[in-house]
Amino acid sequence: MIELDDLHKSYGPVEVIKGLSASVSKGEVVCLIGPSGSGKSTVLRCINGLESYQGGEIRVEGKRVDRAKPSIVDVRVHVSMVFQRFNLFPHRTALENVVEGPIYVKREPAAEARARGMALLERVGLADKAGSYPHQLSGGQQQRVAIARALAMQPKAILFDEPTSALDPELVGEVLSVMRSLAAEHMTMMVVTHEIAFARDVADRVLFLDGGRIVEEGVAREVLTKPRHPRTKDFLRRVL
Ligand code: ADP
Ligand code: MG
Repeated sequence: MIELDDLHKSYGPVEVIKGLSASVSKGEVVCLIGPSGSGKSTVLRCINGLESYQGGEIRVEGKRVDRAKPSIVDVRVHVSMVFQRFNLFPHRTALENVVEGPIYVKREPAAEARARGMALLERVGLADKAGSYPHQLSGGQQQRVAIARALAMQPKAILFDEPTSALDPELVGEVLSVMRSLAAEHMTMMVVTHEIAFARDVADRVLFLDGGRIVEEGVAREVLTKPRHPRTKDFLRRVL
């Protein structure tokens, strides 16, 4: 579904992704973990064309991701992204946020989009909040709206960039539980997270990034309980 082949990415003269190869198969959940600044967000942003890259290749369903080509619109439709800070439109209700993409990007009939949007809000436990504005919702509720919005595009994969890092601790569980249910339904997901228990239980594989490279990868449970690389060991010691 998603292939990264010797990816190199620089911001100006500074190379931050230094030859990274990885892949995510259909239905797979892959967690990306690693210290701050290691390049996790950059990798996700390159995959759905929010950033350009200078070397190597990214393919989604075999097609090269090229930010400069019109086809990038298709990549963004097929690969949704959920951000740390929700990024909801502040002056639109929960339901309006969810149906925005289907109506204005996918040109779905409004009534259909709204019906599906309501079903998605119900699915994330927020049917009663359809008419609420983001500022009237808790962080956990806003993030669940953001997930419903991502799902509304009927994506083939969803990229999550630290979806629970901005939440108060008591709200983390409700978001992770929605993500667990997506994983159980075999949604293809790439998840940047510091929630090690989630990664251990839900991810098929874990990639550990450090300094723009993958320093360790493997089956989630093995990497997280028996890390081999000193950087992985050190990181896990600090977050656990
Ligand atoms: P992570 O998500 O793992 O914390 P990032 O992908 O955000 O890491 O950042 C990787 C590196 O790239 C860091 O050194 C960061 O400072 C740098 N970086 C990220 N975004 C930009 C940008 N827009 N311009 C310049 N440097 C950036
Ligand atoms: Mg980041």
